[in-house]
Amino acid sequence: MYQARTFLSRSFATLLNHPLRVCIVGSGPAGFYTAERTLKAHQEAQVDIIDRLPTPFGLVRSGVAPDHPETKIVINQFSRVAQHERCSFFGNVSLGSSISLSELRELYHVVVLAYGAESDRVLGIPGEDLFGIHSAREFVWWYNAHPDCKNLNPDLKSTDTAVILGQGNVALDVARILLRPIEELATTDIASHALNALEESSIRKVYLVGRRGPVQAACTAKELRELLGIKNLFVNIKEADLVKTPADEEEMKNSRIQRRVYELLSKAAASASSQSSSGQRELHFVFFHKPDCFLESEKSSGHVSGVHFERTVLKAVGPGKQVAVGTGEFEDIDCGMVLKSIGYKSVPVNGLPFDHCRGVVPNVKGRVLSDDSGVPTQIENGLYVCGWLKRGPTGIIATNLYCAEETVASILEDLENGTLSSEDSLPKPGREGLLHLLDSKNVTPIQYSGWEKIDSLEKRLGGLSNKLREKLTSWEELLKAATT
Ligand SMILES: Cc1cc2nc3c(=O)[nH]c(=O)nc-3n(C[C@H](O)[C@H](O)[C@H](O)COP(=O)(O)OP(=O)(O)OC[C@H]3O[C@@H](n4cnc5c(N)ncnc54)[C@H](O)[C@@H]3O)c2cc1C
Repeated sequence: MYQARTFLSRSFATLLNHPLRVCIVGSGPAGFYTAERTLKAHQEAQVDIIDRLPTPFGLVRSGVAPDHPETKIVINQFSRVAQHERCSFFGNVSLGSSISLSELRELYHVVVLAYGAESDRVLGIPGEDLFGIHSAREFVWWYNAHPDCKNLNPDLKSTDTAVILGQGNVALDVARILLRPIEELATTDIASHALNALEESSIRKVYLVGRRGPVQAACTAKELRELLGIKNLFVNIKEADLVKTPADEEEMKNSRIQRRVYELLSKAAASASSQSSSGQRELHFVFFHKPDCFLESEKSSGHVSGVHFERTVLKAVGPGKQVAVGTGEFEDIDCGMVLKSIGYKSVPVNGLPFDHCRGVVPNVKGRVLSDDSGVPTQIENGLYVCGWLKRGPTGIIATNLYCAEETVASILEDLENGTLSSEDSLPKPGREGLLHLLDSKNVTPIQYSGWEKIDSLEKRLGGLSNKLREKLTSWEELLKAATT
């Protein structure tokens, strides 16, 4: 992988005897790893991280499931970066509304965009806007207390059945939260509104639906094992769906993950009882089904009552790649809630080159290109990208470390080669200019000390109810805690 090199006397910023001003947009893993690598590699760099939320850490706080506290330990490492003497955090500062991209580029020599993927792919089929249909992103933000989804209020009471579209790790997280015994969630940092709603939930049956087969399920073995291991859960997998074709065998030969997932599903199918016992929660894996349209309830107008699926078969489209094609046979699954876990999508800001097809910023090793032609000469000087905004919404937290190393290596190379224009090598206002500009726009940035106030209040509140932390759930509460 890319090793960020120590970069001292040869950097142009050092030669001109003024600091290199770097602004990173987004304080998720990509942002923090970029900051860490930049600070380490460039002794004259002054790094500011801005985030639209008053709280740092991106999806480590608002994506990773509440029953996975060990995954969030990386926050300790990110906190040390935020407290570095040459680093500052400014929350409540949104690129696009608080400050524009051109303003940021005026203030800093280097701007690294690491603001993730905060929208959803859509299916584009009839009925997608019916009540009771949410994206998995919204549902995850809701149970993780993201202030934008405090009022989502998913209706878990009027139905006993939820359909989850997709079979990746996010789909499995969501299924686990719906099915896990409530006492196992009660001591986590799950939002209190979600805990209350799950406690009163009527959902007993969850369908996890994929277009392709068990060999192609996009989850990993660890997450699948955990879901299958939920106490007193009835698991249903049709034996017929487990029949492998030579093309499946070929795919499995090349992927240990696919092999492990398939083995786990086969084992679960073989050991499952034929019927659920009364009161038992049920998890149904449905393969080879693609959604055709959503059905509207006759009793409750505007509300979803089911999903109309078309059965599929796999068709080889190249070595080791099979796609699902419709068979013309249809089947309905009745349900009162649908969670679409079909992928996150990044959103562009004004003035930013954007590849709308792939939902990423066009780049070469993290250097932003002025269009998506892939020609390296059309580079936007001083503008870089990292994380989900650079690669698309895939990969685990650690993937962003390698991604950040690549982007930081490009920054260092550009400094070394003098690729940044002479205008960019002049002193820039950086942090002082940012704070001045925000002040003129009446934007109150939340510094790291403000986050520390939120953090200690949440931990204190959590202690009162035997939880790891009680997350504040609204913008008002967060801003009040940070500023008083
Ligand atoms: C539901 C879910 C569960 C996951 N669970 C795990 C897991 O258990 N283990 C694991 O290793 N990986 C997990 N991942 C993957 C991991 O979270 C991602 O790889 C990682 O967070 C991506 O990092 P990022 O920095 O690119 O984006 P993000 O983490 O999304 O960070 C982006 C940041 O940018 C900020 N931002 C957005 N727009 C703006 C703007 N306009 N101006 C300023 N700031 C802005 C956001 O507030 C956010 O803080 C999970 C992902 C999801 C979706």
